[in-house]
Amino acid sequence: MRESKAVRVGSRIIGGGAPVSIQSMTNTKTADREATLAQILCLEAEGCDLVRMTVNTPEAAASIPFLLERTHIPLIADIHFDYKLALAAADAGIHKIRINPGNIGSEERIRAVAKKCLEKNIPVRIGINGGSLEKRILAKYGSPTPEALCESALEAAAQFERQDFDNLVLSVKSSSVPVMIRANRLLAERTRYPLHLGVTETGTAGTGTVKSAIGIGSLLCDGIGDTIRVSLTADPVLEVRAAKEILAACGKRSGINFVSCPTCGRTEIDLIRYAEIIQEELRAIQTEQPLTVALMGCVVNGPGEAREADVGVAGGKGEAVLFRKGERIRNIREEEIVPTLLQEVRRLLAERENRL
Ligand code: SF4
Repeated sequence: MRESKAVRVGSRIIGGGAPVSIQSMTNTKTADREATLAQILCLEAEGCDLVRMTVNTPEAAASIPFLLERTHIPLIADIHFDYKLALAAADAGIHKIRINPGNIGSEERIRAVAKKCLEKNIPVRIGINGGSLEKRILAKYGSPTPEALCESALEAAAQFERQDFDNLVLSVKSSSVPVMIRANRLLAERTRYPLHLGVTETGTAGTGTVKSAIGIGSLLCDGIGDTIRVSLTADPVLEVRAAKEILAACGKRSGINFVSCPTCGRTEIDLIRYAEIIQEELRAIQTEQPLTVALMGCVVNGPGEAREADVGVAGGKGEAVLFRKGERIRNIREEEIVPTLLQEVRRLLAERENRL
């Protein structure tokens, strides 16, 4: 695990060994405070740890106090082009500011943002994107290469450091998965600032989740990354769901791990339908208890996986065998599979919670 500096963002710590946090971004007009509030609350309920919103107008900045009063997770102002909006967001009490040095302009403007954030003790994320790299760096490298992204992030960090400001998180994003991975590996070797990971402009939910899982997941498995955002052309709630799955798959977050077989010609139960129902029901159960639930089609791999799980089922013809912690409990009818598995999960979780 890469060691990174700890940065406090409101009630959350990013880096310094803290659990990898999940971020998402609202897609409402921030000036529409009721719509933005409703979306932030939805993201909170889904398990999002920090929410970013665009602050692109003075009216958007004016919504910040209203939103801060009514939400419970740290809020981040996303600033492009107009550094004065960063100053306004800081004055409004925002928990963190994201700026893109590629479009903020002169070092003088960076200096003004650093000065304000130092005074207010607000961290800043320097968010470098392949699509908006500074002209000078682009001219030097010819295209947004991993080296170009990394150099841009480190140069922007140096501009803040010259103002005695090091309350920073860095990100280097690209729509190319290999470029994003390589850029983050380079950055991880050259700095101790916490890293925010994301593949950008990934497409719609299906493709975007795959790209994000490869990019973010590869780095997380190597111990790189302190906070993540899955960017999807979709409802931001889906970003949070995908991020939770990525963290769980990389072993960065405990919770319910659902194992189900791919089905084949041996399957004798309506397994795909049952798996979809169970996965959806399990998603709604918010728990940090590590619990493996297995739904297997037959006796080939079924009993093995079902036995390894905390609770599992191995299907047969019109019936299944229920296992609990490796122990064969009883045969159940096919129509009992879904309710029995869910009942067992709830019972096991309740037992564990009572023991705590
Ligand atoms: Fe096929 Fe059985 Fe394997 Fe499922 S567990 S894929 S039904 S062999």
